[in-house]
Formats: sequence, structure tokens, C-alpha cells
Amino acid sequence: RVLVGTKVDESHANWVTAYNMLTGIRVSVSRTNAKLDRELTSADFEAKQKSTFDITGNELVPSAKYDFKFKDYAPWVFRHLRALFRLDPADYLMSLTGKYILSELGSPGKSGSFFYFSRDYKYIIKTIHHAEHKFLRKILMDYYTHVQNNPNTLLSQFYGLHRVKMPYGKKIHFVIMNNIFPPHRDIHTIFDLKGSTIGRDYKEEDLEKNPRATLKDLNWLRRKQHLELGIKKKRLFLEQLRKDVVLLKKLQIMDYSLLIGIHDLSRGNEENLRDKTLQVFNPGGERASAGEPPSVLLRTPSKMESVRKARELREKIRQERPVPIGQVLDKMPDELGDTHSRPGFVFNQDDGGFQATHEDNSLAEEVYYLGVIDCLTHYGLIKKIEHFWKGLSHDRSQISALPPEQYGDRFYNFVEGITMSAEEAKRQTIQKERE
Ligand code: ATP
Ligand code: CA
Ligand code: CA
Repeated sequence: RVLVGTKVDESHANWVTAYNMLTGIRVSVSRTNAKLDRELTSADFEAKQKSTFDITGNELVPSAKYDFKFKDYAPWVFRHLRALFRLDPADYLMSLTGKYILSELGSPGKSGSFFYFSRDYKYIIKTIHHAEHKFLRKILMDYYTHVQNNPNTLLSQFYGLHRVKMPYGKKIHFVIMNNIFPPHRDIHTIFDLKGSTIGRDYKEEDLEKNPRATLKDLNWLRRKQHLELGIKKKRLFLEQLRKDVVLLKKLQIMDYSLLIGIHDLSRGNEENLRDKTLQVFNPGGERASAGEPPSVLLRTPSKMESVRKARELREKIRQERPVPIGQVLDKMPDELGDTHSRPGFVFNQDDGGFQATHEDNSLAEEVYYLGVIDCLTHYGLIKKIEHFWKGLSHDRSQISALPPEQYGDRFYNFVEGITMSAEEAKRQTIQKERE
């Protein structure tokens, strides 16, 4: 049994944390799912359920490898949210905890959050700050109502809100949400757009080293990209975005972005850009990585190192557990026979995404995967301070920390602008010049 103490290195603690996260999810989600469905009450939005895990277990909580405490927030609300988003309860649990694989998205944000993919890449676990956690609980009823009224919302789909508390007191809050990108298609270009230009540039030279880098507003503008949706799709998209932004403004949220992943049909799926680091967890209590100390697997490695490690690990695991794990590691998720279509959802109608469409309604060669992410930043004191300092040196409308009302308008206008085709943009400029 591995003890969490002062001597373990950071990475080691990470492994245990992830184990505890998955074990906690498995137990608490199964517990709620096992009950007969019922209507929500207002108390459900404030509810929290605590579990204590240890190696002996008891009649309510099965035994676990480590000692930790787990909190499940508003379990009934999230159960209903998962139903609204049409997740199959058994699939959800399987994806998150059924196999011993999770992979980490090498710290993509500045915020210090960690991101993990579920083994089938359908879900993302994001660790969040306590302030974001408190905020999500505060707005949960508004969010829930919005989802009920807007099944096609572009906002992040939240499926669970939990907390792990380690024996020495460290608390880790996290959410489970949809991966906007499909498990079964290569995404050739990624944009994270806020509608701001200051600091919103990814150095194009660095793309060679890092082809999966997330590009930003200035890259989009420099490349003269357009979000080509044709007339009908464009109307659906802007209409939904407008409603989503109304909610974000009302809840005083800012700093969110539109995440766009582009799958180029002419390039297809051959390049296999998924070089994510495979990492092994053991939520079921069986030994998936016998003999290997967890710290070796979970140190944040360099890219070369992680590729080599993943290869070694794959070989090792293949020898240990030839059938189930070998299957997961050798094949990409689409080869496992999973279906990734999300029937009934407007923005997932074409191969899980939204296919680019010309003005004459003919289909274009790209599929877009879209969503509004990072929407738990409340315009609080910190942002006001940031606004003040940055406001001294830059054009105030261009800085990213604007009050929510202006942030939302600028965001929406930018996105509306990029959905204009080149011809449309030209027509509009001519018209403006006439006025
Ligand atoms: P910051 O506050 O500095 O922007 P953060 O830690 O809050 O960072 P996010 O903005 O939520 O992080 O996400 C960072 C990046 O991670 C995104 O630009 C995107 O590439 C990826 N990402 C985040 N959420 C998702 C998602 N739901 N689906 C796919 N990719 C995502
Ligand atoms: Ca962000
Ligand atoms: Ca953030």
C-alpha cells in the first residue's frame, strides 16, 4: 500500500489523486444511478454527499487502495443533466472508470488546471479553483434551466462536480465535461477565440514543433479564415450563440472562448495526430501496472520521454494483460466499435460535428467541432483589478478582461463577423461606405 506522506514527489501524489478521483466517481455516480429516478427539488441544487474511503471499506463504501474523502455535489442535478445531454448512464461510468487508462493534456492553460481525458476521449476532467467550484454551485440552477430550454447549447456540458480530499488535507475540485473534439477524427487545426486581439497570438513558427497547438484570434485573422456555415446553419449557430451569451452576461461571466476544431476532410484521418501521453490508473483495484512504481508512470515527462515510456508501458501491459488492455492501447477509439454520433444535437449532426457549408448550401471540405469553454470565471475583484492595470496601457475595448456585458458583446460580434463569407464581408463594407 502506498502512503501519501511528505516524502512522495509531486507526480506520485498526482497518480494517487487520479486514482481517488476515478474511484470516487465510480462509487458516487453508481450510487445515484442505482436509485429510481425522481423529479428535482430545489434542495438538490445545494446537496452534497460525502464518502470516506479506506482500505477496509464498509457497507456503503467499498474498499479502496488509499485513504481519502470524496464529495459529490448536487448528484441528482448532474444525473438529470447527463440525461438531458443524452448520455447513457452505463457508458458514462465505463468511459470514466471501466478501463485503466486516462491520458493527460499537457497543461494547456495558464490557470494551473489539469486536464485528463477519459480513456475513450469522450470526457474531460478539469481540476478547477475553489472560486470556480463555488461559482458553478451558485449558478447551477440557472445553468440547468438554460440546458433544459436549450438542448443545443454551445456552452460546456457539465456532467459532474466533485472534490477529492487527501489525508494530509489537500482538496482538489474538478468537473467532468464534454470533450468538444471527437475521439474518432483527427483535428487538423484548433482555434481558441475570445474576440480580443491583445496577447491573442500563437507564434506560427512554433507550429512545426507543435502541430496540435491551439491558435488564437490573431492567427485566425491573419489567415483570413471564415467559419463557413451557409445560410441555414449559420442562422442556427448564431441564434444559439446569442442565447448562450445572454446567459453568460446575466451571470457576470467572462474570459470564455469559442473553441473550434477543424477536421479537413481532404486530409482525412491518416495522420493520427493523437500523440497524447498514455497514463495508467487502476480504479478497479486490480493491478494493471504491477511492479512499476506509480511515480515512474506519472511524472510529467518530456515529449520524447513520454513517447518512449508509453511504448514501453504498452509492451509491458500487453505482456501482463494480453486481451483487454492491449485492445485499448493498440487501437484508436473508433476502432473499438464505439459510436460517436450524437443524434438529435444540431451541432453534432455531421460525424459528431457541424460540416462547413457554402453559401449555395453545398457542403465544404471541413467539419467543425465547436463549443464555448472556460465559462466559470466570474467577473469578480481580480478581474476588476486586471482591467484597471491593463486599461492603463492598452485600448480598453481590446483587453480581454472587460466587464461581462462588454465582453459578451465583443465576443458575439467577433464570432458573427467570422461567420461572414468573403463576399458577404465585401458587400457589407461597400454598404457601410455608402451610408
Ligand atoms: P486559462 O484560464 O489560462 O485560459 P484554463 O486552465 O482555464 O486556462 P481552458 O481555457 O479551459 O483552460 O482550456 C485550455 C485549452 O484546453 C483550450 O484552449 C483547449 O485547447 C483545451 N480544452 C479545454 N476545454 C476543452 C474541451 N471541453 N474540449 C476540448 N478541448 C478543451
Ligand atoms: Ca481559457
Ligand atoms: Ca480559465
